[in-house]
Parts: sequence; structure tokens; C-alpha cells
Amino acid sequence: MTEASVTGLANWSGNYTYRAPHIHHPTTVGQVQDIVAGADRAKALGSRHCFNDIADTAGDLIDLTGLPVDLQVAGDGTVTVTAGISYGRLATALQEHSLALPNLASLPHISVAGAVATGTHGSGVANQALGASLSAIELIRGDGELITLRRGRDEDFAGAVVGLGALGIVSRVTLDVEPAFEVRQDVFEDLPWAEFEAHFDEIVSSAYSVSLFSNLQGPAVSQVWCKSRLTPAADSTVFDAGGPIRPSFFGATPATIARHPLPGLPGDVCTAQLGVPGPWFERLPHFQLAFTPSNGEELQTEYLVSHDRALDVLATLRGLAPRIAPLLQVSEIRTVAADKLWLSPAYQRDCVAFHFTWVRDQPAVERLLAEIEEAIAGCSPRPHWGKLFAADAAALSAAYDRMPDFRGLAERLDPSGVFRNDYLDRYVF
Ligand SMILES: Cc1cc2nc3c(=O)[nH]c(=O)nc-3n(C[C@H](O)[C@H](O)[C@H](O)COP(=O)(O)OP(=O)(O)OC[C@H]3O[C@@H](n4cnc5c(N)ncnc54)[C@H](O)[C@@H]3O)c2cc1C
Repeated sequence: MTEASVTGLANWSGNYTYRAPHIHHPTTVGQVQDIVAGADRAKALGSRHCFNDIADTAGDLIDLTGLPVDLQVAGDGTVTVTAGISYGRLATALQEHSLALPNLASLPHISVAGAVATGTHGSGVANQALGASLSAIELIRGDGELITLRRGRDEDFAGAVVGLGALGIVSRVTLDVEPAFEVRQDVFEDLPWAEFEAHFDEIVSSAYSVSLFSNLQGPAVSQVWCKSRLTPAADSTVFDAGGPIRPSFFGATPATIARHPLPGLPGDVCTAQLGVPGPWFERLPHFQLAFTPSNGEELQTEYLVSHDRALDVLATLRGLAPRIAPLLQVSEIRTVAADKLWLSPAYQRDCVAFHFTWVRDQPAVERLLAEIEEAIAGCSPRPHWGKLFAADAAALSAAYDRMPDFRGLAERLDPSGVFRNDYLDRYVF
């Protein structure tokens, strides 16, 4: 195990520099337990892809990437693995066993524990956030004790998955898996806004996973990415048989070369398009594991709203588009199915997610976010926990019925507040 002082360690975007005085690189779960037991304040650091101070601490940062992967495939359709693993690495290991996860986020480089802690999701009307695939969590509590919470057995489990790093260090996770499947990805260009609004449900349900990229202005949505599953899910009605590419998609036309969501950037860093079938983990993310998707010169925000309010939110955002445009690189619209995880932005409601990739002018973005959130407040948006947002503790408490239960859980598992940080003090406690 190594320990070092943290100097200048920043998140992926570079918009946040961690203030923690120490960082540890343990290689066993026992070492993690010892660090936590001896710390006044501690926090697990994932792959540093959040855009705020959620992963920071006034004490000891703990990097779990040195723990052995130790993938265990059980006969009951689950695998157990070290929690600090990236989705890309996990997917590669699962594929060797002909297994798959139901969905992935746009980027495969993010860690499993960090992603589920913030409610990270991909897209698809029948696809839940990534944390919904967890069936057990092994957690190191504030006193260093190791506990395991299981879905269906422990009532606290549903509170612990989207844990915001507040409950302990997740050392191992058990995930539901299914047989590996193939996906084709087709991009359509220039979908008229009028068609999108008129056929909204049909369009977002037209493939296993659908993402729409635009600048919210002009006559059309610039790109629609359809990820169609070529092998059916056992319990899914949303299934595309593939077949020949559609000559037209609600007035949009098939792209003839690989596209990047950001205008002008080369599509070759993205996962294969043009309908070429491939394994699930090489199509469900937008970006290839082998490439860094961009140099981090961006900020991100995302609001999840109830599916039935999506067109109202869209109309409001389109009305604000001239104010949004100077700071916007691209906006993405996705869908997320409801789950039962207390602090999941998709808790008990099917959602549409409105994402913004911003230029890196944080003061200006933060001013704009206050304006956007005021404009869509009537539609009860829930912001992505790992991105930038303007909401305060009162707004977040109003958005989450189970917030008092979550606070109670955190106080039980971590009575001394080892895992508390500025972010949690600001938004949760
Ligand atoms: C380019 C890019 C693309 C993205 N795409 C998507 C997307 O498609 N969908 C989406 O929803 N989000 C997306 N995100 C956001 C991203 O998924 C989240 O910010 C996610 O939390 C990042 O995980 P991480 O491992 O980097 O977390 P970190 O930022 O390192 O940590 C996040 C939180 O998790 C906690 N944590 C980490 N590991 C553990 C552990 N072992 N035990 C307990 N707590 C832990 C940390 O303490 C912290 O509180 C994207 C971000 C970027 C930069």
C-alpha cells in the first residue's frame, strides 16, 4: 500500500482540484478497513469523472483501483467484482464469459462504484440506471466494519446503492448479468423538431437505446443515435430485429459516415455506427474504451424529469435556447426507466434526461443553471448528482421523498461522520 500527499490532483474535467491532504492506494480490503478505522474523515475516489466536489474529503482519499479484480461468476445470473473497476474493464471480463450488463453509460472509463453512487444511467425506455443491476453491496462502514447489504433481504439496500459516497466505502458489488448480446448502432441526421414533438414516444422507443443530440435551436435535432439490440432480452418487449437500415426516420436521414456528437469532431473515436453489428459493450457506450473521448475541456449538467413532463421541459428549454447557446457544446436527450433506489433521479418515475455539455466557463454556466432550474421548476427536475446544478438542499429534499430515510441510514452506518464532506453538508445534511 502507498500513501501520498495530494497535490494538484484534479477531476477529469479539470474544473475541480481535490483538497484532501492525503491519498492512499491500498491493495487489500483489510488495508481499506484500517485506513477508514483510523481516519477522522475519508472518502473513496472513483475515476474522477464528476464535475463537482462530491468525491472530496478533508481527510484521506482512498483509491481502490489497486484492489484485485477477483471476478466471481455465480450460477444464479450474478457476478461479484471489486467495486473500483471501470465498466470498460468489467465488460471485457464479462464478455470472456459470454455475459453482459443490460446497459452502459456513454463513457466506459467510469468506475462502477462511482457511477452507481451518483445514479449514472445510459438510455432506453426499458433500461434502468446502472445501479439497478446491483443485487448486493459490500460496504466498509465508518468504524471500519465490513457489512453486506442484499437486495430483497435488507431494507436499507435500496438506500445504499445511490449512496453519494455518504455511507461507506463500497469494496465489492454483485451485479445481475445476462447472456452477451449483439447491438447495431445507426445514426440519423436532421430530425425535424416538429416530427420529434409529434412522435416523441415512438421515437424514444424506436430502439433499445436512443439518444438525441442537438443545440436545441434551428429546424431539426442534429443526430439521433439508435442502438438496436439484435438478440432479444428475455423479459423485454423493446427489441429490434435489426434488418436493413431505415431509409428515413421520421424525416431524418441515415448518416453515411461515422459521427461524433459534437459538431466537427471525428467520429472514429466513437463506437462503431453505420449498422455494423457488434458486442453490447462496443455499441452501448458512445465512446470507445481505447480512446479518451475529449481532453476534458467541458462541463456537464443533466436534469431528469418525469416522462410525461418531457415535452413541457423541451418547450421551455427551446424557449431559452438563445440564452443557452453561447455556453452549449451539445445537448443530449435520453430516457431512463423507473427504479426503487431512494436517491436515484429515476426513483419511482420513468424519466427523460436532458443533458448539457457546456464550454468550460463555470461562473457563466452556474448563472445560467439558476435560470434554467427556475424555468423548469414546475416540472420537478432532479439533477444528476455528479454534474453541475444550482439546486439547494431544500429543493433536493423536495425532489426526494426518501431523503429523511437516507439521512437516517447515513447516521446509522457512519455515526461519527467519517464520510461527510462539504458536498453532503450542503445538499443532504
Ligand atoms: C465524459 C463523461 C461522460 C459521462 N457520461 C455519463 C452518462 O452517460 N450517464 C450518466 O449518468 N453520467 C455520465 N457521466 C457522469 C459520471 O458517470 C458520474 O459523474 C460518475 O459518478 C463518475 O464516476 P467516477 O467513478 O468517476 O466517480 P467519482 O467522481 O470519482 O466519485 C463520485 C462519487 O462516488 C463515490 N465513490 C466512488 N467510489 C466509491 C466507492 N468504492 N465506495 C463508495 N463511494 C464511492 C465518491 O466518493 C463520490 O462521492 C459522465 C461523465 C463524464 C466526464
